[in-house]
Amino acid sequence: MNFVHQTFPQRVLFGAGRRRSVADEAARAKVTRALVIATSPNRSAEVETLLGTACAAVFAGARMHTPVETTDEAMTSVSGKAIDGLVAIGGGSAIGLAKAIALRTDLPQIVLPTTYAGSEMTDVLGETTKGLKQTRRDPRILPEVVIYDAELTMTLPSQVSVTSGINAIAHGVEALYARDTNPLVQLTAEEGITALGQALPAIVQSPGDAIARERGLYGAWLCGSVLGATSMALHHKLCHVLGGTFGLPHSETHAVLLPHVVAFNAPAAPEAIQRTARALGAADPAAALFDLLTSSGVPSALRTLGLQEESLVRAVDVALAQPYWNPRPLERDGILALLNDAWQGRRPHVSSMASH
Ligand code: NAD
Repeated sequence: MNFVHQTFPQRVLFGAGRRRSVADEAARAKVTRALVIATSPNRSAEVETLLGTACAAVFAGARMHTPVETTDEAMTSVSGKAIDGLVAIGGGSAIGLAKAIALRTDLPQIVLPTTYAGSEMTDVLGETTKGLKQTRRDPRILPEVVIYDAELTMTLPSQVSVTSGINAIAHGVEALYARDTNPLVQLTAEEGITALGQALPAIVQSPGDAIARERGLYGAWLCGSVLGATSMALHHKLCHVLGGTFGLPHSETHAVLLPHVVAFNAPAAPEAIQRTARALGAADPAAALFDLLTSSGVPSALRTLGLQEESLVRAVDVALAQPYWNPRPLERDGILALLNDAWQGRRPHVSSMASH
């Protein structure tokens, strides 16, 4: 064995009702004038009340893919209201804005995730400037405190639950075959994928299932943490291109692409794909992920997300202009074929494991 593992300095609270600790956590972090960040005012209301006088301002206009214009707008509240800490409640969009502000100010962040995307566990920020989404890592980006309270996810519609959960599964899968993976990452990723693989169909079947919701959030925590500990590969690259350059919705794009990337990378990363199969309890993890989409009523083709067929070639160009390392070498034709399959919505399968 030969590896490097870096542990992040983060405080994680987990449990139903834990959001009620937010004022104590703010006091502990010496935050007396927080900016509360959300994607809509009704999502931020309870946290504002819980924070009481420690809430100095609210910015409820966070947007997907963290456009810099939105960050600039939110920054005026930070400087104008003498803000000394950030409290984000929401999915990756609200958390992304908190991260973007923290990158610029080094203010402490307390985040309360309400989806299963896993962004809260990483020092990664994807920012969009003039149609180009670029990711960066910086210690200031990492949220200091994460409060996981599955009750906050009870209102998350089933379809967003599935797509954000598959976004987290994608973190786990890419961590399994990452160039810088390690034994702790692999154990964590497999456990995280297992939890999400069990939780998501249960949430679809019964959105009010509190145990499934908690299991989903547990999986999101684990899969988010392994994304933070490793480097991303082809799957994340393609999602960033389709989201940043073509404006496709983030988690839906992850959901459509992941089965195809699993099939594409399987020959070059057999152990990682075997672990994914075991975690999902499926003979063929690519087909199983695809079937999860169709049985959940979630889009399973890029064309239904609004991408024009002519854009596929340009997407490959943008992806290959600044490629990420990938277990299977990246050649144009192969990636174009992958995107074509995903655009059409074909059911992929891992040849050596195919069940039919
Ligand atoms: P999101 O935050 O955009 O939320 C999706 C939708 O669901 C929004 O309309 C939101 O208002 C709504 N919503 C959120 N929680 C809800 C709830 N509990 N009940 C009802 N509605 C709710 O979606 P997301 O998939 O969590 O985040 C996507 C963003 O996160 C992207 O910008 C992506 O780049 C980023 N992200 C970053 C990382 C990272 O490590 N940097 C990881 C994953 C995702």
